[in-house]
Amino acid sequence: MKKLNDVYRAGRVAISIELFPPKTTAGEQALYEHVRKMIEYGPDFVTCTYGAGGSTRDKTLEIVRQVKTKFGVPVASHLTVVGSTVDQLREYLQQAVQADVDYVVALRGDPPQGETSFQVTAGGLRYACELVELIHREFPQFGVAVAGYPEKHQEAASFDSDLGYLKNKVDAGSDLVITQLFFDNRDFLRFRDRCDAIGIRAPIVPGILPVTNLKQIRRIASLCGANIPQSFIDHLARSDQPEWQLQAGIEFALTQVHELIRQGVPGLHFYVLNQSQAMLAILEGLQIRSPRSSG
Ligand code: FAD
Repeated sequence: MKKLNDVYRAGRVAISIELFPPKTTAGEQALYEHVRKMIEYGPDFVTCTYGAGGSTRDKTLEIVRQVKTKFGVPVASHLTVVGSTVDQLREYLQQAVQADVDYVVALRGDPPQGETSFQVTAGGLRYACELVELIHREFPQFGVAVAGYPEKHQEAASFDSDLGYLKNKVDAGSDLVITQLFFDNRDFLRFRDRCDAIGIRAPIVPGILPVTNLKQIRRIASLCGANIPQSFIDHLARSDQPEWQLQAGIEFALTQVHELIRQGVPGLHFYVLNQSQAMLAILEGLQIRSPRSSG
């Protein structure tokens, strides 16, 4: 099992790719075809989200197991505390050990569909930090990543308190911070400086959404509260041709990522939304991995 410390080492930019569990078998088959193409560029690991309220728990594990078996790449399962008792979380982690999962992205989670606020499950946990502690104590074989918010978590009382709680997660045993998606690198760089100032030493990896159309970016940004530069919206809106919007999204992501690499980020985490077209163009344009090399 490769440790996350080995993945984020000096002199290279690690790449991770995030998937979500498709709803249908056909969607799942299509997903593996997309993954097959992206694997050519040697990503360091592939993650799969855990549906709101644990709705995809079996599917999440199945996807990461299949990705690891089919492509031999390290995998991370996301895991949230929503809707689970501590014993159920333990049981999931035990299954993840059996499925040869390498890393866990430990999260509190968003409320299930139809609910507006997070509710603690009886016998469960309240914050991601407690999940990190559980994993660190009982499943030390897993590398652990946690979420960070360059524009502050939507529920946080203040930026400072949010950062303090992020530090708690790292101090509790997390090896890595992956950020929420953002479109203005200045937000990320400020966040990174503030993390540094309070002594967060884990690698901080920007989460990048390769935008493929205007409707998508509006929906996603409204869900997570990310600020989209008006100039980017205007640029995307110049044509409603899908090909134009896709190319505009790829160009924006490439510019964003080139700048982040110049700023010394240790890695890039891509929210690919189970599609490979934009991601392949970005990987090609980045030229930090040649096809069929593992960097
Ligand atoms: P926490 O770190 O627990 O923070 C939640 C809120 O509580 C924050 O406002 C924080 O400031 C505050 N807080 C933390 N600790 C304390 C404390 N001790 N006292 C008071 N307040 C505190 N969601 C899913 O459902 N499934 C996924 O697979 C998933 N994957 C994600 C992957 C990444 C990389 C990211 C960035 C997000 C992901 N999310 C996922 C979304 C995430 O679950 C939500 O953003 C959720 O609302 C917060 O989760 P968290 O782990 O950051 O929570």
